[in-house]
Amino acid sequence: MGLTDVSERSGPDACPGAFQTHSAADGAVARIRVPGGLLIPRQLRELGHTAASLGSGVIELTSRANVQIRGLRGDAEREFATRMTAAGLLPSATYERVRNILASPMAGLDGHGLIEVAPLVRELDLAICSRPALADLPGRFLFAVDDGRGDVAALGADIALLPPAFVLIAGQDSGLRVSPAEAVPVMVAAAEAFLAERGSDDSKAWRISELPDGPARIAARLGGHATAPPPRPRGGGVAAVAGKQMGALAQPGGWAALSVMPPLGRLSAAQAHAVATAADTGDGEIRLTPWRGVIVPGLTWADAELWLPRLADVGLITDAASPWTGVTACTGRPGCAKSLADVQADAVRALSAAGARGAAGAPVHSALPVHWAGCERRCGRPSGPAVLVVATGHGYRVDAGGRSVSCAGIEETASAISGTRTTADGPPGTTET
Ligand code: SF4
Repeated sequence: MGLTDVSERSGPDACPGAFQTHSAADGAVARIRVPGGLLIPRQLRELGHTAASLGSGVIELTSRANVQIRGLRGDAEREFATRMTAAGLLPSATYERVRNILASPMAGLDGHGLIEVAPLVRELDLAICSRPALADLPGRFLFAVDDGRGDVAALGADIALLPPAFVLIAGQDSGLRVSPAEAVPVMVAAAEAFLAERGSDDSKAWRISELPDGPARIAARLGGHATAPPPRPRGGGVAAVAGKQMGALAQPGGWAALSVMPPLGRLSAAQAHAVATAADTGDGEIRLTPWRGVIVPGLTWADAELWLPRLADVGLITDAASPWTGVTACTGRPGCAKSLADVQADAVRALSAAGARGAAGAPVHSALPVHWAGCERRCGRPSGPAVLVVATGHGYRVDAGGRSVSCAGIEETASAISGTRTTADGPPGTTET
């Protein structure tokens, strides 16, 4: 892939935050970074309450395991930031947009990883927010802390830890080897090296991959030597099923974790409340995933069996065989003025059409993710293999595996998606929203 031409950029990236919101057709959009996707029940309840009372009523889960609320108008923006600060979700106004940290959502829960990631996520978050220079990182810059299974290391982060010892820079092996205890200082140093290299070029790059020879230059500053391809993960090799494990999942010690997903990644206040209440009966922890799912760990099996149908009753997907699994959509009409279609409504219609033809139940473990987009920007598209369904103004174009099919109606679009979705597995990825 060629280098992105960044010379025409006029300034910093426009990724929204809680203070620097994005103006959309349906009001302001505010995004809250959730390092590692880690929330506690009280925070999810507050997000749901805030979405319902100040915004559109929905918490949007992003492909970086962050959350955003749209439809904020007038004084609601300021009130939003006040509430998020009180909830502990905005520890720093200066660094709020740069705390982009992915983490393996199932770390420590299923025996597939090599390390526990939550302590490293917290250490990395604190380290980022304590370095004055890193306040200048672009909002698109991304860290990943993988537990060794290779799920989030595969998502195109600028700097990723892949245990047992690898540091990846823009997906390439940096040649650096670190223990988990040594990882955070090296990751922070790599981010500072990016800013230094960017400065030396007077570049407008937002990502390491946008700098000429970026991985090699940054690795060299740290005493490494970047090479491709990246190492194969050793921690279970389960990246390919990331985001496709749903329902009640067995944890070591006889415990259970619930893995659920809101349709199209849009969590209502009632659903948020139900998830938070379920989490109260477990470890008191909620993990958002880069696949727009939610994991509630540490329940007894009795509580898991009690809560799974309750979560299904409020409209959450609890079964991996659901046709909704792996289906995402950008905002589309009416929220985005650029959109050529109401992609979320059309995605629902296409799923209904596929279900009517008996095609909706294709085994999701062998299905590519599907992403609907209202225009060619394709916001929120997965970075790995995927079926992209792009509005054209006179229907949709279905892109997959280097082939494109133009479709005039929803039936035709649904049929084209079904025909392209079941190919070789690849981990869903992330370019946020
Ligand atoms: S892909 Fe286009 S229509 Fe969808 S949110 Fe992005 S800009 Fe808007």
